[in-house]
Amino acid sequence: MITRISHIGIAVRSLDDHIPFYRDVLGLIPAGTETVPDQKVKIAMFRVGEVQIELLEPTSPDSPIAKFLEKKGEGIHHLAYQSDDIDSQIRSFRKSGVQMIDEQPRDGAHGSRIAFIHPGSSGRVLTEICEVKQGEAHE
Ligand code: ZN
Repeated sequence: MITRISHIGIAVRSLDDHIPFYRDVLGLIPAGTETVPDQKVKIAMFRVGEVQIELLEPTSPDSPIAKFLEKKGEGIHHLAYQSDDIDSQIRSFRKSGVQMIDEQPRDGAHGSRIAFIHPGSSGRVLTEICEVKQGEAHE
């Protein structure tokens, strides 16, 4: 079951260039930075109530974020929904004919498991489903 919006992913060329806007201008609470090797990105999280803003900077030219920046420039990259059971979520999506980028969950930030829905099945909005490990806040 989808329980809430987890975070909004924003592609940037440089975290250092954009962190001051979110931290100092908007006054959001920094919730840590992390490198996710699987996705070849460095991320910085900011908390806004229950939702987080996830800034994504590519760590390699073949990172999906590098390709996105090349094509579309900086901006909103994806919307992430939290699920309490990502495996059954993916099964039920597939039963409904939803095309997945990830048929199997993979490792996301902070020990979460994530899977992307193909934008062709989600009205061109890149949609991530994430499941946070029991007992851990998604930070
Ligand atoms: Zn994300």
